[in-house]
Amino acid sequence: MSSLRKIPCGTIRDTVERLFLEASTDLGKDVLGAIRKAASAEKTDLGRFALERIIENARVAREECLPLCQDTGMAVVFLEIGQDVHVTGGNLHDAVQEGVRRAYRKGHLRKSICDPLNRLNTGDNTPAVIHTEVIPGNRIRIMVIPKGGGSENMSSVSMLLPAAGIEGIRKLIVNKVSEAGPNPCPPTIVGVGIGGTIEQAALLAKKALLRPLGRRNRRDRRLAKLEAETLKEINNLGIGPQGYGGKTTSLAVHVEMMPCHIASLPVAINIQCHAARHKEAVI
Ligand code: SF4
Repeated sequence: MSSLRKIPCGTIRDTVERLFLEASTDLGKDVLGAIRKAASAEKTDLGRFALERIIENARVAREECLPLCQDTGMAVVFLEIGQDVHVTGGNLHDAVQEGVRRAYRKGHLRKSICDPLNRLNTGDNTPAVIHTEVIPGNRIRIMVIPKGGGSENMSSVSMLLPAAGIEGIRKLIVNKVSEAGPNPCPPTIVGVGIGGTIEQAALLAKKALLRPLGRRNRRDRRLAKLEAETLKEINNLGIGPQGYGGKTTSLAVHVEMMPCHIASLPVAINIQCHAARHKEAVI
């Protein structure tokens, strides 16, 4: 058992600020490595051209501290909070929102959040979407995803009939990516959440995007197989990088699963564009 540890709100705020600034300008090595590999394997000239521009864009963003994309996303924050942590000096959620506010101001990142009905911009890219989970220990793990709107728009939750089974899920994933076409800015990463309730499936799909790119599901061989098979099928669709045609429509399919009600089979698909920004820290 760990001893009680105090973590000031200021540390949380500053960490969130740093992570969003880094994520917005520095594409992770796993993503860049996958795009480089795809570029060397891509058969079509236009597809290869698009992948090379994405690689060049990532270099310029990193070297000049510029956003990877004009769409700097909705701020999504996952917090794994050790049950032996005592947050001091304020309110945890306020600290996260302030970190987001500061990052978007300091990094000159586009403010993309608005009232859903009158479309008035909130002006500082808040509120962030915050997911919290209490875990053993006395640390806080903070994971951030600035999530682009174009790829989020192509995401969905389907309540399949239980009899649809893994074959129905496979067809659903491939159909959804096919219907999305070039809209989610491919090459994409396809996060899939199976089971739970409607909101839990969506959360699993989003969490699947946090997995290091291309690492197969290690807990369930059926899911690892599903990931490999659907990726192959998706890359045979011919959508290609940025929709220019080619074999690189997705870089990976990540599937997470949990048990569900005997009457249900929820399946959520969360599509992530090639600007697959995510960073994390443990404090
Ligand atoms: S979906 Fe991604 S790549 Fe496309 S505009 Fe939005 S953030 Fe940029």
